[in-house]
Amino acid sequence: MRKGLVVLCVAMAASLCAAQTDFSKVQVKMQKVSGNVYMLQGAGGNITASVGDDGIVMVDDEFMPLAEKIQAELKTVSDKPVKFVIITHYHFDHTSGDPYWGKIATLIAQENVRKRLAEGGPTGYITKVIHENKPAAPDMLPQMTFTKEVDLHMNGDDIKVVHYPHAHTDGDSVVFFPKEHVVATGDTFVTYGFPFIDLNAGGSVEGTIAEFKSMIPKLPADVKIIPGHGHLSTLQDLKDYVTMLEQTRAAVQKAIKEGKTVEQMKQEKIMEPWQKWSGSFINSDAWIDTLYNELTGKKS
Ligand SMILES: [Zn+2]
Repeated sequence: MRKGLVVLCVAMAASLCAAQTDFSKVQVKMQKVSGNVYMLQGAGGNITASVGDDGIVMVDDEFMPLAEKIQAELKTVSDKPVKFVIITHYHFDHTSGDPYWGKIATLIAQENVRKRLAEGGPTGYITKVIHENKPAAPDMLPQMTFTKEVDLHMNGDDIKVVHYPHAHTDGDSVVFFPKEHVVATGDTFVTYGFPFIDLNAGGSVEGTIAEFKSMIPKLPADVKIIPGHGHLSTLQDLKDYVTMLEQTRAAVQKAIKEGKTVEQMKQEKIMEPWQKWSGSFINSDAWIDTLYNELTGKKS
């Protein structure tokens, strides 16, 4: 039951849910992905860690009350300190540990992430506010920012952090570990079903498709993909996801051309062929809303 609640909370990424989560009961689980790269899961977005002689590089930091549990898991594989934490995007379920990690490591993020963390404001979905972000104190903001990409030459790898301008938000970074054939996508790829695309924060389904269309041909066939939420994935999982994005976007575009209203699209269940992607957070109707709003330029 507890596990069910936590899983649902991860999918919902809702402040209400975070408030209800009993973090003392949350277990942080770590799994080896490849070589010196690990994946950690608690109650928020997935964490990636590159561990080696040069220190630990983490990707995202989840929730503050889990920081010591995350630290304890890392200690089971290395005594080296966490030197850098790369923040994939501004959402609270990936950044709430910043005040803890920012004191012991350097936080790195694309410049739009820093701006959004500094400004605060609501994270919204269509007409619902799912989280009210308080402006982060200046000493809790990422100390290092970049515009397009940055490389970290650590632990025998050339870790590449690349900005995709309009995907899940306007500040998404994807982190590549070329030596280990691992990619951490942040929330530009999730496995909980139809994704949450933060249209109000510069996110775009079209941009997400463009991101993966350019990325997939460059990935090795045996790549291990750490999504923003959900299970460790394969290249095929990612391809299936992109195909779904393309097909559902085309279906809504066609319906718009035929003069259908968003209500008609829902009544006619135009998402029926992709029903298996309908989740508890973003169901078929919510996904129609996302695509319709993006395609018509409607602001929510
Ligand atoms: Zn997110």
